[in-house]
Amino acid sequence: STPINCEPLKQLIRTVPDFPKPGILFYDITTLLKDKAGFAQMIDAFAAYYIDKHVDLVLGIEARGFIFGPAMAYRLNAGFVPVRKPKKLPAPVAKVTYDLEYGSDSLEIHLDAIQPGQRVVIVDDLLATGGTMQATVQLVRQLGGEIAGVAFAVELDFLKGRDKFPDVDVYSLLHYN
Ligand code: AMP
Repeated sequence: STPINCEPLKQLIRTVPDFPKPGILFYDITTLLKDKAGFAQMIDAFAAYYIDKHVDLVLGIEARGFIFGPAMAYRLNAGFVPVRKPKKLPAPVAKVTYDLEYGSDSLEIHLDAIQPGQRVVIVDDLLATGGTMQATVQLVRQLGGEIAGVAFAVELDFLKGRDKFPDVDVYSLLHYN
């Protein structure tokens, strides 16, 4: 089947200069999410891409990965697992800490969320430097999961985030240069 052309959806993304701080151009997907055809097309495109890839689990990265992950999991007949900011998950966790421009951040996953050998797709709204996703890939591998792919609604090509994933399939619906 022909891949879905998501390019027209770019018109539904709002760009906000200087948010959350000066010099950042923020890609606001809320204007796309509220469009019923736009949202459906994104989930359809993700589902079409992964349907034959034997996905057991979809992992969503807090917070905006939670918007796409459950809808994808439903369509792929897979389970959903939240990857969360520190101290939110109640049972024993694996934790990863990664560098930001200033300081660092951490993400956690329940130790029993992935069985060794399970095939996992990780989703987030946007690929910038790739640091957030790279940290999540490390968590999945720690737990013995196999990465079937990493998925984004938006990829900022000029930041070359995908270079951080030489051995992982990276799929983004929309690209900005
Ligand atoms: P990174 O780890 O650099 O790939 O950053 C990705 C994370 O930061 C994602 O969870 C995005 O939601 C968020 N993010 C980074 N840059 C932007 C941007 N320009 N617009 C919207 N979200 C962004």
